[in-house]
Amino acid sequence: MSFSELRLFNECQWKWVLLKVFGEQTEDRSFQMDFGKAVHSGMEVMYGSDGSIEKATENALAIYDEALKTLDLSHPSDRAEAHRIRDCIPGFYRDCAVCPELQGIKTLKSELQLMQPIDRTDGLNVKFKGFIDIVFVKKLKRKTVIYVADFKTCQWGWPAKKFQDIEVISQLLLYKHYFCKMMGADPKNVSLAFILLKKKPKDGELCVEVAKISAGPKATEAALNYMQKAITGMHSYSYEKNYGSCVRSWKDPETKEERVVRCPFAGTDKCPGSAETTTGS
Ligand code: SF4
Repeated sequence: MSFSELRLFNECQWKWVLLKVFGEQTEDRSFQMDFGKAVHSGMEVMYGSDGSIEKATENALAIYDEALKTLDLSHPSDRAEAHRIRDCIPGFYRDCAVCPELQGIKTLKSELQLMQPIDRTDGLNVKFKGFIDIVFVKKLKRKTVIYVADFKTCQWGWPAKKFQDIEVISQLLLYKHYFCKMMGADPKNVSLAFILLKKKPKDGELCVEVAKISAGPKATEAALNYMQKAITGMHSYSYEKNYGSCVRSWKDPETKEERVVRCPFAGTDKCPGSAETTTGS
């Protein structure tokens, strides 16, 4: 069980069945996803041994440029945006180096793999798997704090309500829970943060923000319940179709036209019943 699988199941249970049980393959790619992967790779270089701003920037740009060669950017707005955000890449690494919260940190591990058994009362043998982007330590005046952190690219930051959304924060809460189990660490000594990398920071702001997440026992319990409920649902042999997830539409800010992205199974025989929803009738 990974966090992305958990989110997929909660998005549409039937889509989870098609992808994870029946093994259906889909072409799930976008310039935003490739951008995120390139930026993450650069962060791994930046905070790896012998990392630097220059090496990280070079690594991320090379990966993104390679991706741009094979991406479908036939829509002019996508083409413009895909190239605009390329110019944000150097700023992410430059601002990480001057961001006060990240000054003087020491990386313990980049891309730390988790593969920990999940306690179940029904005997199911399930493990939690994930990769923590970065685990680092920061020395404060009186104590040293271990941070479990995840990089997220975004436009201008996150609204306050996103930091309360269990579907968002349970990623870090679960990472912390299983990190502590794996390392035998006391949860009280481990802090959590999303490191937001802003493509459109406000004037005068850094494009890097360290957003700390409070992770007391109650929040951790809520995240574990959220996950356990999904695991129970995955083994229920009764799956719901979420027609609300078949189509995503938005107004293109450049051309003002209505843009639409459909689930790859919408209107196909893999998902009977979804056709009416996706044709707008
Ligand atoms: S088309 Fe809609 S209901 Fe069918 S799998 Fe996709 S999201 Fe789920």
